[in-house]
Amino acid sequence: MVTANSRKVLIVEDEKDILQLVKMYFEKEGFRTLTAATGTEALRQVRSEHPDLVILDLMLPEIDGLEVCKKIRLTPQTATLPIIMLTAKSEESDTVVGLELGADDYVSKPFSPKALMARVKALFRRIERTADREISVYRYGPLNLNLSRHEVTVEGREISLTAKEFGLLEHLLRNPGRVLTRDVLLNSVWGYDYHGTTRTVDVHVRRIKQKLPLLNDAILSVKSLGYKLKEEGANA
Ligand code: CA
Repeated sequence: MVTANSRKVLIVEDEKDILQLVKMYFEKEGFRTLTAATGTEALRQVRSEHPDLVILDLMLPEIDGLEVCKKIRLTPQTATLPIIMLTAKSEESDTVVGLELGADDYVSKPFSPKALMARVKALFRRIERTADREISVYRYGPLNLNLSRHEVTVEGREISLTAKEFGLLEHLLRNPGRVLTRDVLLNSVWGYDYHGTTRTVDVHVRRIKQKLPLLNDAILSVKSLGYKLKEEGANA
């Protein structure tokens, strides 16, 4: 398991004071840090330095944070790289777009480094929990999804799913508690060259719920964004 000590965080921010403050705080917490003051430089470092996390300011010279986020997500090698966005209150609509483009979380400015660190740690905990289950079996209550056997069972009874339903369910189980946009799901399950509409995702989610009623209240529709699998034991 990766510890904070070996983790590399790329901090992207054009305001020098904030950049220095965040950098100092991460180093104090044992992270290795990389910094970039422009979107172009951020993308260059993502490619060459392979950071474990990106703290990404929204308003940047050259390429803005949204575009950087989009480019990172659309590159297969970095598609799952954790991203936390820094946004100003006045940029709330951009925040929604940021989450839609695949940012994992966001922190509104002004923020305390402590609050940012709490989000970072929560994000890494979520990732570790997922990585622990990378073994090939995902569980959700009595439901088991076995990747190597390509099989879904509930209390040992096999439930027959189509390949796309299986892929969609796998993606939801891999990312509990995380909002997955229809576009992200379409790209992950159907592929980038698929030209269907995002409604395809809705239809498949509905079918999954019909076949697996135990997920009826667990797969939440997130207004105007997409879907989220409720974390087990969570209230919402
Ligand atoms: Ca800025």
